[in-house]
Amino acid sequence: MSYCVNCGVKLDSSLDSCPLCHTPVINPNEPEHIKKAHPYPTEKGQVDSVRRSDVAILTIIVLLATSLSCLLLNLYVFTGIMWSLFIIGVCILLFVLLIPLIIYTKVPAYVSILFDGIALAFFLYLITFTTPGIGWFTKLALPIVVLLTILAEVFVLLLRAFPVSFISTALYVFVEIAMFCSGLELLIRHFTGSPLRLTWSAIILTVCCVIAIMLITVLCIRRLREAIRRRLHF
Ligand SMILES: [Zn+2]
Repeated sequence: MSYCVNCGVKLDSSLDSCPLCHTPVINPNEPEHIKKAHPYPTEKGQVDSVRRSDVAILTIIVLLATSLSCLLLNLYVFTGIMWSLFIIGVCILLFVLLIPLIIYTKVPAYVSILFDGIALAFFLYLITFTTPGIGWFTKLALPIVVLLTILAEVFVLLLRAFPVSFISTALYVFVEIAMFCSGLELLIRHFTGSPLRLTWSAIILTVCCVIAIMLITVLCIRRLREAIRRRLHF
């Protein structure tokens, strides 16, 4: 075992220079022509990344197996309520949500959002089989899903149509939160038969309006925008 003459660190016999201070290692007892073996492999032994299609097949098989086995359990063992529909619904929802991620990546964002909305609505519709009445679905759940889908579509459309920046994205998010909360309260009131007016969502609406006006001002005044950009580093 040898030590670095400069910093004193313990050195492996194969090293040509100190790994800390790069001082050359000279061992007079060792003939110079012997080539020193490197203690570490020179090539990176990396595992190949998993192919998307393999992940897709695995996902589909897992989702299908889960749905089928739950359905069989429900039909022959734990009969009574159709609880397996919840699990099948979740599997369908997961499948639709995963399509743009692992299966087909070229699908446009607004198309995948539309499918996500339809899958979510279908999942909620499956729940109606185990609940008395379908009113909550048609009067409350479905309109909320439609509202969410429309807002998500508008968000994507705005991101595509205008130059994307942190401030403009924040503006869209706050405006959409305000719209969603107002719509949600109106839908809940309509469902419960209360008079249509805004209460809790009015507070959210006001806060979002103030933030939105502030963001629009920042967007319009270039000097202000640049000052904020420099301070927040984006
Ligand atoms: Zn050293």
